[in-house]
Amino acid sequence: MSSNESAPLTAPDCLFCRIVAGAVPATVVAENPAAVAFRDIDPQAPLHVLVVPRDHHADVAQLAAADPALLAEVVSLAELVASDESGGQFRLVFNTGPSAGQSVFHVHAHVLGGVELGRINA
Ligand code: 5GP
Ligand code: ZN
Repeated sequence: MSSNESAPLTAPDCLFCRIVAGAVPATVVAENPAAVAFRDIDPQAPLHVLVVPRDHHADVAQLAAADPALLAEVVSLAELVASDESGGQFRLVFNTGPSAGQSVFHVHAHVLGGVELGRINA
């Protein structure tokens, strides 16, 4: 169930659940009833924002399986941020699993832009 229908699903000791709850500070740039967008603490591009659903899901595959409409809300908020900050052009990255670079296990979209991005390096 998505967070616009009830209190968000949360996980104990989850950093991004704590940011969604306002218990850990972050620079929030946009939000909607389902998702929150905030600046990455260690930006890798002029635009580097993380978009997270308010509900806790560990990764994008689990989110897609559990609540595909919520995944669409995450993508929609990413597009809104990019339309404000990078002319609507952006790269959307969901690191999924430790060997793919995922370090926070609350699904998050990296919204990257504001510069000419090269090819993705494996
Ligand atoms: P991952 O490596 O899981 O794909 O991405 C996690 C991202 O979260 C990293 O880009 C990292 O810089 C960012 N991050 C980690 N801790 C914090 C924090 O406390 N606040 C914010 N805003 N970003 C964080
Ligand atoms: Zn969480």
